[in-house]
Amino acid sequence: MTATVIDGKAFAARVRADLAAHVVRLREVHGLVPGLAVVLVGEDPASQVYVRNKGSQTTEAGMASFEHKLPVDTPEADLLALIHNLNADPAVHGILVQLPLPGHIDTDLVINAIDPAKDVDGFHILNVGLLGTGQKAMVPCTPLGCLMMLRDHLGSLSGLNAVVVGRSNIVGKPMAQLLLGDSCTVTIAHSRTRDLAGVCARADILVAAVGRPEMITADMVKPGATVIDVGINRVERDGRARLVGDVDFASVAAVAGAITPVPGGVGPMTIACLLANTLTACCRANGLPEPDGLTA
Ligand code: NDP
Repeated sequence: MTATVIDGKAFAARVRADLAAHVVRLREVHGLVPGLAVVLVGEDPASQVYVRNKGSQTTEAGMASFEHKLPVDTPEADLLALIHNLNADPAVHGILVQLPLPGHIDTDLVINAIDPAKDVDGFHILNVGLLGTGQKAMVPCTPLGCLMMLRDHLGSLSGLNAVVVGRSNIVGKPMAQLLLGDSCTVTIAHSRTRDLAGVCARADILVAAVGRPEMITADMVKPGATVIDVGINRVERDGRARLVGDVDFASVAAVAGAITPVPGGVGPMTIACLLANTLTACCRANGLPEPDGLTA
């Protein structure tokens, strides 16, 4: 293996420690406690784990955590009423509705009912537009985490060729916008892209956000490239359940300059950025300067 392994777990721990120090200052100097409300509808086991982790990391960072667990058959109107209450609650600076929502609920309607200033997932249409036009936005957590790791590892990204594989609204598109904002030359690839291997092989920065186990192989990677693996895929190997990314780590690590592992790469940064967005939202709501390095 030649690539440097970018340790997302260690980086996320540094970000959380930095955040916690800001939170202490906010409390001591301004009497403020950033608050994050997480809303879960239904009992999807994976979502329950995510919500539990978010809650515990929120309190560990010294912030207030408000969990709202609703039954799977909650009427859409009741969920909207809860969002309106959270929008009006001054103790709540960030609101996250855990996705996916049950089929009878209009996800776009619910997300766009969140006060954009409290939309710490960055999915509200206003924040999407602000990001797309290069204005101050709430930025989706996973791409923000990827950007922070890239800046930390590479310094300036200006002029680099970046290829993002995947064009989802939560990862691929905002990732491409962020890389463009840092003056990369950006290509977005997807399931209809012709010669995906050739497109990827031109990338100085390759971000894989596809959801297909180990589909990016060494022949698709430029020697020395920085490879960010967003994918989380559950597979069975040798009779055991394992998590793998969208990148074939073993072969790609032999040609890339740097690579994020799965697990322990992008994943831990996602929750760290959720906390960062909550702190940013609290500072903005109170007219205070935002902490450096935690936003795009
Ligand atoms: P989506 O399913 O919404 O999007 C997948 C994208 O991959 C689509 O744009 C699709 O193209 C593209 N794609 C599918 N097959 C191919 C192919 N053969 N070649 C090229 N492109 C292809 O997934 P998400 O963006 O939500 O998530 C992507 C991955 O990231 C998943 O594994 C998910 O679990 C993980 N993830 C990890 C997070 C973390 O915290 N680490 C957070 C969020 C997601 P098309 O549009 O043409 O269909």
